Amino acid sequence: MSNNNGQNLAGKVAVITGGSRGIGAAITKRLAADGASVAFTYTKGGDAAVSVVKEIERGGGKAIAIQADAADAAAVKAAVEKAVATYGRLDVLVNNAGTAIPKPFEEATLEEIDRVIDINIRGVYVATQAALKHMKSGGRIIMIGSAVGERVAAPGLVPYAGTKGAVKMFTQALAREIGSRGITVNNVQPGPIDTDLNPATGDWAVPQKAATALNRYGRPEEIAAMVAFVAGPEASYITGANLTVDGGMNA
Ligand code: NDP
Repeated sequence: MSNNNGQNLAGKVAVITGGSRGIGAAITKRLAADGASVAFTYTKGGDAAVSVVKEIERGGGKAIAIQADAADAAAVKAAVEKAVATYGRLDVLVNNAGTAIPKPFEEATLEEIDRVIDINIRGVYVATQAALKHMKSGGRIIMIGSAVGERVAAPGLVPYAGTKGAVKMFTQALAREIGSRGITVNNVQPGPIDTDLNPATGDWAVPQKAATALNRYGRPEEIAAMVAFVAGPEASYITGANLTVDGGMNA
């Protein structure tokens, strides 16, 4: 994996959903460090969003934060349009916003199930349609799926795993449909990564850590590195791929 001079994405514009914390924040900062002008969404955490923008600007990069719930189709479309209006083009979309509500499936309410589907699937479809209107040859659509979209080692994540399996097939189907436009579509599938959603401390973390070959949680930057590679010029022949970054959990 090459980082070259750190400016692989000079002149490019990237939109990242859910970029204020966790994996999305690491992706946003990494793509900016690689030279992209970035726009990212968030919902509640305005302070966290401002601090990501400031950090990127201190490093000489360009970033804007846009409040847009992935479950709100109009807000998602407006966020993509704002990014294009601000920077004049769109090269990379990273569909990172996602949520899980861990509990036994039979205890999940319809509202909880709808929320997970609306953010993890519907939001991805809406953002991707909005981005494709502006993308030209060389464009990159990148999903953040999950290692549990392919193999599930533990109970408690049934609706979530279903959405990530959907993201996997969405990626493969869309890659087929838009390959002729020179746009690639790929799905980065993290294993357990230390974030607010899945902290590396606590009871819930013990079996996840033990299930990895490396016997540790990953860091958000370890997912951002794969996303940066897929977004960059060296990944030009990779499309329709599910790229698992899970410390060997699914091995
Ligand atoms: P976090 O909950 O730590 O961070 C989520 C980020 O997305 C925050 O910036 C949050 O900002 C934003 N966000 C949350 N809900 C929405 C929404 N409805 N619309 C827009 N933005 C939103 O999550 P992670 O970083 O852990 O997860 C990121 C992605 O990675 C998800 O798709 C998740 O499924 C996937 N993943 C994570 C794994 C892990 O172990 N952590 C493993 C496998 C996959 P705000 O609070 O302001 O809304």
